[in-house]
Amino acid sequence: MSKLYFKYGAMGSSKTAQALMCRFNYITKGFEVFLFKPKTDTRCVVDGKPMVSSRIGLKQECIEFDKNESFIDLYKHYVKTINSVFIVDECQFLSTKQVNELKIISQKIPVLCYGLLTNFKTELFEGSKRLVEIADSLSEIKSVCKCGRKATVNARLVDGKIVTTGAEVQIGADESYEGMCYNCYLNRLRTQK
Ligand SMILES: [Zn+2]
Repeated sequence: MSKLYFKYGAMGSSKTAQALMCRFNYITKGFEVFLFKPKTDTRCVVDGKPMVSSRIGLKQECIEFDKNESFIDLYKHYVKTINSVFIVDECQFLSTKQVNELKIISQKIPVLCYGLLTNFKTELFEGSKRLVEIADSLSEIKSVCKCGRKATVNARLVDGKIVTTGAEVQIGADESYEGMCYNCYLNRLRTQK
């Protein structure tokens, strides 16, 4: 029986690159792979086509979904053979309902979800929370803080300063994110002016 996988990591932990390598691996084994990303992630569009794009330069066309999309409908629309796989990038933006649907789909085909565990307030994203609750397999993609410890916090930076209030998703805001360990996160919060 296939499984629902949740592979999580902090910002900069090469999750997207790993998702694309996973896709390549399944394709070389003769599987049909359907790659998804949420519409809230507007990083990359090439010739009008949505792309999943990794910082290390890998790119792949994908299918975009929004909060109201039914993955059961997407499954019925796209999947013609049981030798298929769903891969979801930025899966933290899935709704609880969508994760529940992916759990049902994973009874038939493998479903692999890649994304962040927590938001900039160090709280679980909705999609990540549901994945932690019902995924069959949880694994961590590790990345390193500047100090050498494991990065676990996704800090939001505005003008080089950590901010801890605001909306979970900010459209068009002048901000960046940095993965860091909790120790460095607290130190920077204490010392920044
Ligand atoms: Zn650190």
